[in-house]
Amino acid sequence: MDTTDATSQALVIGGSLSGLLAARVLADHWPQVTIVERDELPDGPLPRKGLPQARHAHVLLSRGARILERLFPGLEAEALALGAPPICWSLDSATLLAGGWMPRFDSDLRSFSASRDLLEWLVRKRIQAIPGVSFVTDRAVTGLTTNGDRTQVTGVSVRRGTEAAEEIAADLVVDASGRTSRLPTWLADLGYGQAEVTTVNAGLGYATRWYAIPDGWEADWKLVLIAARYPDNPRGAVVLPVEGGRWVVTLAGTGGMLPPTDEAEFLAFAQSLAGPQIYDAIGQAEAIGPISGYARTENQWRHYEKMARWPGGLIALGDAVCAFNPVYGQGMSVGALAAELLDSTIRQSGLDALGRVFQKKLAKALLTPWQLATGDDFRWAGRAAGEASLADRLMHRYLARVFANFDQTDVIHTFFSVTHLLAPPTALFRPSILWRALKAKPVDTK
Ligand SMILES: Cc1cc2nc3c(=O)[nH]c(=O)nc-3n(C[C@H](O)[C@H](O)[C@H](O)COP(=O)(O)OP(=O)(O)OC[C@H]3O[C@@H](n4cnc5c(N)ncnc54)[C@H](O)[C@@H]3O)c2cc1C
Repeated sequence: MDTTDATSQALVIGGSLSGLLAARVLADHWPQVTIVERDELPDGPLPRKGLPQARHAHVLLSRGARILERLFPGLEAEALALGAPPICWSLDSATLLAGGWMPRFDSDLRSFSASRDLLEWLVRKRIQAIPGVSFVTDRAVTGLTTNGDRTQVTGVSVRRGTEAAEEIAADLVVDASGRTSRLPTWLADLGYGQAEVTTVNAGLGYATRWYAIPDGWEADWKLVLIAARYPDNPRGAVVLPVEGGRWVVTLAGTGGMLPPTDEAEFLAFAQSLAGPQIYDAIGQAEAIGPISGYARTENQWRHYEKMARWPGGLIALGDAVCAFNPVYGQGMSVGALAAELLDSTIRQSGLDALGRVFQKKLAKALLTPWQLATGDDFRWAGRAAGEASLADRLMHRYLARVFANFDQTDVIHTFFSVTHLLAPPTALFRPSILWRALKAKPVDTK
């Protein structure tokens, strides 16, 4: 694609992780890239209004870590130097799944554990250093501008508070404005109709508190992951170590069972978990902040790829297209996958067809993370989610047999390679795993 015209620019709506990663690849193709972000962006790893989820545990899957390192060589070393612990997911984590406590072994399933604020700040600094990339902050995009017959997006309208709207011209607009994106309304107003939306709501809620890791703390784990178990135990939790010698402790309730944000009940919930580690750990640690709740966690997929018409010069990605139940830790890594896909699509496709081609490719790439996130969630969601597909139901029965072999490290390694988005789900059907699964007595996953 020829985007060498010095006046041409790509514009990204939303300066969170998906928007930043998109800007990183757009800067290889456009002389100017502008990111419009509603918030003022802090000069440091600090909270901001448009990122309330940063208070909660954020797991970076191995696939996401690898893509980030490819896009920003040295990023991981920078995070580690600032105190983010390196993580080997099969060795460092005390993990309780339907198959029981996972045996621990060294492997290539690695990433690092930074707070969401630190990760975003490290990425933002890299983007700010790219010539031709600029930020317009404290301004919200309020709509798309188009050519006369509305077939081509020509830019956006932006507004600061109650000031008059201004227009910014762009030959490509990328919507990365997250789960509450207004793109569906903007497209409907332009006469494109409504995108079909699929929602699977497992009724998950989080309650999170940060703690200082006690001096001299020793345990046989760096982090703890306890999964809910359908249908009788909706309680799960994670303890993640992050920079600054802190733990992020997120308690999770599924099926509408929101974990409490009251101190005594928070502790009681931790005590009721299927393993003692988390309650023991926080009993010895000093809390360094309030307890924050979060409940907007349904899986939500806007099927832009199915729309009969799509304007030229428009792309949507990240949570704005598909937001996941966060318990599976996929959102940032899927945003990273989308950026890589955007890069390869730009290399192959002309600007006219770019949006349509990209949305279709993205939909294909979303199938695996969507299946991973909704497989169990369909059961928690009950009738409201509709019927799980035959493939999902068969996968469930099969996984119950795979879980029965969770004492075997090659099986666990393959399972985690799939959940860390490094291998396709078909890897679980390799003959050596299939054979043992078929011989096994399925674990009771109802
Ligand atoms: C509680 C919780 C826990 C999570 N845990 C994990 C995890 O463990 N691992 C993981 O990988 N992911 C996790 N996620 C998902 C992860 O936070 C997101 O996938 C990630 O932030 C990337 O999202 P995004 O950039 O697409 O959208 P967002 O992060 O939602 O960012 C959207 C941005 O757009 C801006 N914006 C919105 N509207 C406008 C507008 N009109 N004009 C200008 N700017 C606008 C917002 O201010 C914001 O900065 C979690 C999410 C939640 C809610």
